[in-house]
Amino acid sequence: MADKIETHGTYMTVTTEEATTVLINSPGKPFPVRLPPKSRKLTSGEIALARLIFKESIPYEKVRIVRGGLLGIPDNSRNAMTPFGEIHLPIKVYDVIKDFSGPLTNKEDNQRWFIHEMTHIWQYFAMDLSVACRGVRLASIGGYTERDTSGRLMAYAYDLLGIDRGKEFKDFNIEQQADIVCHCYLVKYHANYVSQEPQLRNLISQQSRREYVLRDFLRNPLDRKLKSEEWTTKIHHQREKENNRIWYEAMTKVRTF
Ligand SMILES: [Zn+2]
Repeated sequence: MADKIETHGTYMTVTTEEATTVLINSPGKPFPVRLPPKSRKLTSGEIALARLIFKESIPYEKVRIVRGGLLGIPDNSRNAMTPFGEIHLPIKVYDVIKDFSGPLTNKEDNQRWFIHEMTHIWQYFAMDLSVACRGVRLASIGGYTERDTSGRLMAYAYDLLGIDRGKEFKDFNIEQQADIVCHCYLVKYHANYVSQEPQLRNLISQQSRREYVLRDFLRNPLDRKLKSEEWTTKIHHQREKENNRIWYEAMTKVRTF
């Protein structure tokens, strides 16, 4: 049953996610229809925020923020998913955050989150990269379920002063790229906030390396040599061989893309 129906002469607007309908050729019991989830465009403030980092490399007018969708995975994981050039937010988050650039509680952290998801948008549009496929591959090797020694999920963990010293931006996977970009944003534009948050202070020591790794990105985010090549690396193939978990298990444990 529709929550809200507005009639406009020859057509009507249905504001709901579920409705029922009856086939014209075979009238009978109505059957449920799932309508596309609600979505919105980026606000002018969000575009201005994203432009600080991504400049003109993203077709901002095409980007939509979607209320849930994707079989409910964003709601179950309580995280965003951005596999196809749209940011799917959990329904509760969509209903609260109308503008990531606005006066929000936890403004800095929400903006960091927004820049992380916008990096997936950049990967999709500017680098022509299949974020969904890469996310599934990361899930298949436990990237979203296994943690490193510091407790970080493997897909996201990076250490520019340690194991990842000497790597270029293209050498990182899609989640590492997104975290490197959003951490760079956070330290650069919210330095006071970062220095006051004990769990974030360790981001400061890597900032100069981060800016070095991002040097080509910051100069020209359309440079195709920035495209993540992580899936072709030796370590990825090695982990795939070592890992014998079946696809079903991997898929049911997907947390975030
Ligand atoms: Zn992500």
